[in-house]
Amino acid sequence: MDSLLDEGYMLPLAEDFYTIQGEGFHTGKAAYFIRLGGCDIGCSWCDSKYSWNPKLFPPVHIDTIIARTLSHPARAVVITGGEPLNYPLGPLCNGLKKEGMEIFLETSGSRPLNGTIDWICLSPKQNRPPLPEFYPVAHELKIIITGPLDMEWAEFNRRKVNPDCHLFLQPEWSRSTAVLPHIVSYIKANPVWKLSLQTHKFINIP
Ligand code: SF4
Repeated sequence: MDSLLDEGYMLPLAEDFYTIQGEGFHTGKAAYFIRLGGCDIGCSWCDSKYSWNPKLFPPVHIDTIIARTLSHPARAVVITGGEPLNYPLGPLCNGLKKEGMEIFLETSGSRPLNGTIDWICLSPKQNRPPLPEFYPVAHELKIIITGPLDMEWAEFNRRKVNPDCHLFLQPEWSRSTAVLPHIVSYIKANPVWKLSLQTHKFINIP
């Protein structure tokens, strides 16, 4: 069992579900979500705190995860967490790619990249900044804004990504009302940025 875990053939699956991507570049696209348990970054506003402790989630074989993914019509899959790069993703990605799936990854970038990924959404966290290797390869930079001071963090990261990277500012859900006016005026003054909203939360879907 341990070697299957170490090699990425079994993964601590916190939850998996079929839904519509609610935020960022792929907003509105139907996708199967695979949420892996385990994250020690500790963002105070994290909306998936239940996924932090990987021991709560018995490892599931990737064949099971892939079969569940394929039982839905969408050909897009979002691998998220927790921090999914805590685990070797190669076997899962290879199995999904063999079936023609497009793979989107949501990561803080705090662990080395691995696995075959089609789209990397980098969401840097100030208490554990991304490894330098993520900046040239990220397709999307998504900065969670909890207050005006986070704009400095956003610009710090923007300067490092490649010029084609899509840039998003997303209000932290519980502080949306307070922070949105600031984000709106910031984007109007700095139109390289786009607004990302957690639309799935407005319509009550996972
Ligand atoms: S990195 Fe993501 S999963 Fe981890 S604590 Fe922060 S928001 Fe939550």
